[in-house]
Amino acid sequence: MTKSSLEKQYDIVIIGAGPAGLNAGMNLINNSQKLSILLVDKTIPWEKPIPCAEGIGKLGFHNSISVDPSWIRQEIHSACFHAPNDSTVTYTDKSGGYIIDRTKMQKDLAYNLERNGVKCLFGQKVTDILPCNYHFRTIHFQNNTSVKAKTVIDASGPIECFGKKENISCKPLDLEPAYFAWVEQIDQKQDMIHIYLGGNFAPGGYAWVFPRGTNGANIGIVIGKQFCANHNLKTLLDSFINRYYPGVKIIKRFAGSIPCTNKKVSLTGPRLIKTGDAASTINPISRAGIAEALLSGKLAGQYALEMVNATSNSQILSICRKYEAAWLKVKGKRHIKLAKVKSTLVSIPDEDYNRGAKILSSLPQKDLTMSKIFRASLGNFPKLVWALRHLM
Ligand SMILES: Cc1cc2nc3c(=O)[nH]c(=O)nc-3n(C[C@H](O)[C@H](O)[C@H](O)COP(=O)(O)OP(=O)(O)OC[C@H]3O[C@@H](n4cnc5c(N)ncnc54)[C@H](O)[C@@H]3O)c2cc1C
Repeated sequence: MTKSSLEKQYDIVIIGAGPAGLNAGMNLINNSQKLSILLVDKTIPWEKPIPCAEGIGKLGFHNSISVDPSWIRQEIHSACFHAPNDSTVTYTDKSGGYIIDRTKMQKDLAYNLERNGVKCLFGQKVTDILPCNYHFRTIHFQNNTSVKAKTVIDASGPIECFGKKENISCKPLDLEPAYFAWVEQIDQKQDMIHIYLGGNFAPGGYAWVFPRGTNGANIGIVIGKQFCANHNLKTLLDSFINRYYPGVKIIKRFAGSIPCTNKKVSLTGPRLIKTGDAASTINPISRAGIAEALLSGKLAGQYALEMVNATSNSQILSICRKYEAAWLKVKGKRHIKLAKVKSTLVSIPDEDYNRGAKILSSLPQKDLTMSKIFRASLGNFPKLVWALRHLM
């Protein structure tokens, strides 16, 4: 992939070759207009492990991108929820999900973009994006070079906070720490994921065990932001593994950050569109962000195309508003409601989860739907029902 020979100016510069940036690119090349596009990433994302459990719902995946079967490691048919007292409830989703191979997906997408004329620059860090000047933004790189762009798509994930000087969505408001390990020699069903709730090992969050190939798994924890100061994530993960999966072989450990939404924030500025984790598009309860990044990347590509062709500030402003409204409509509004639910969920005591699991496990598994879960909760868990009112 391209190392040098940059043009001075591009129609569109995409920062970040994660799901959001790549899908923005895919939507740009699938348009009839001939554009000059630069995709830049500070790393070569598929040459290092991607910090992710790689679980995704089928519907969300297929709705946001044309899925290549080689990106799918395995299909998931059910989820087993473990209450703090070890009782379990199994939920079988109608549509199900996948564990995907992000390395393969991202590499394929980047090569596809390059084949379609996108200039791909890897191993180059963007250090700054200057405010819009005469319909261009200047993008600075770590090696002291720069390029200009008619529109910048910021898909750089949660840390860089480009645009903060212009009050465009700055630091993620609910940035949660996560820690996980790849393990081997684990004996579990290949088509089931496990979610564990319990204040001892995942205060304000949960632990996950997602299958990863035969006899392998991704085991991790995410905790609420408010619990970070008093907990060491490595210790929490190790004690979780020792308790539930003492025989597994740990291959590698990783840390990561999960930026959740909790209120409406500005995602755009003149000739700048933020997408994916850079725009905190993660579902604040499930903490899933791949499908959300793909979907918001798709929208970013669509609206970037309009922005390139805009000639007046009022046109640009209207495109910014349309992009933000489109995101709010497809996911954003619901995420804001979920964030309100989440703020109550963290105060629900372990005993309530234990009682909930007991009641739900007495219902026939095939009949377990979300509305049944809600009805079973009514009367038994006023706090939970109070939290869920935001979703009604
Ligand atoms: C531990 C963990 C487990 C997760 N598990 C799941 C899961 O199972 N399912 C799910 O749906 N979601 C999961 N997520 C969330 C998911 O990984 C993210 O939501 C998703 O990766 C967001 O995609 P993105 O394209 O917005 O950002 P990213 O995937 O973070 O991509 C951003 C890219 O930008 C590049 N970049 C950053 N800064 C610069 C810069 N200054 N210059 C140039 N390039 C830059 C980075 O190198 C990176 O390649 C998990 C997250 C974590 C931390």
